[in-house]
Amino acid sequence: MTTHTLPGLVDVHVHLRVPGGEHKETVATGTAAALAGGVTAVLAMPNTSPPITDVVTLDAARAAHRDALCDVGLFLGATDSNAADAAAAAEGACGLKIYVNETFGPLRIEHLAALAAHFASWPRGRPIVLHAERVAVAAALGLAVTYGQRVHIAHVSRAEEVRLIADAKAAGLPVTCELTPHHLFLTEDDLPALGPFGVMRPPLATPADRDALWAHLDAVDCIATDHAPHTREEKLGDTPPPGVPGLETLLPLMLTAVHAGRLTLDRLVALTSTTPARLFGIRTPEESSVEVEIGPAWTLPERGYRTKPDWSPFAGMTVRGRVLATTLRGQMAYADGRVRAAPGSGRVLFG
Ligand SMILES: [Zn+2]
Repeated sequence: MTTHTLPGLVDVHVHLRVPGGEHKETVATGTAAALAGGVTAVLAMPNTSPPITDVVTLDAARAAHRDALCDVGLFLGATDSNAADAAAAAEGACGLKIYVNETFGPLRIEHLAALAAHFASWPRGRPIVLHAERVAVAAALGLAVTYGQRVHIAHVSRAEEVRLIADAKAAGLPVTCELTPHHLFLTEDDLPALGPFGVMRPPLATPADRDALWAHLDAVDCIATDHAPHTREEKLGDTPPPGVPGLETLLPLMLTAVHAGRLTLDRLVALTSTTPARLFGIRTPEESSVEVEIGPAWTLPERGYRTKPDWSPFAGMTVRGRVLATTLRGQMAYADGRVRAAPGSGRVLFG
């Protein structure tokens, strides 16, 4: 067994469900899950109720996250009509999120003119994150070059997508991307066992897609969870909503990959902490770290998570990594299986 001290993780893709989805997750449960997973800063997505689309909804959401246990940045969401409002609110947000493909919630851009308006209006150099699948990745690249913006492609899941992004980077295009642990560790072959608990967007892909993600890890900038909690009852209903929790299983899974020699610990730190912090302009909090253990095998449980729905698509998997303790600004925030951070230990970032 070896223990290591790493910088606190920055997870650039998390759904805290606040406001409007507090039966799925609250600021308290979501940020507790983050600290238990070694994550000291999360960037929260805007597909809430109401969605975060302008300075009024952003300010309300910022106030609602005041008691966060870890640092939180908030995304603005793009709609077909809010390009000017989103740009005007940019200072208080960690970036603009544009949904080009189907997702959970009401935010989805259907019209090219609206996409172009956002790319033209959004402050240059501030992050634009796209949920773009398949051919929409190419559209995002074209918009970036056309308008002098940098784009970040969320949760890349298919071989054709990661190959295009690798080629675009080699050609010098201003694109970065993230992968999720569920697309690295699960495939459509797991769907019969997972049932509705394996339903997500983008959907679980083929084993060949998964292998291509691992093979192109050099072209990837971040690993982000896309932590997207829904209750067990919702998942077992007639139309299970897409999304799975992931904050507490990110490091156990990725440290297992380190143990297996699939990537180095230094590379994992770059993917989960230093590069996401740099891309999104986040100063990692001083005196913040996560102590991890690599080696002993243990099984991810069915229950016992801090995330409110308390289930995991990875339950039953044998892993070889564990978070022992998380420190935030010199305070013990998580240790011995207990979250110790006080409400308000985290900061609402930007603005
Ligand atoms: Zn998401």
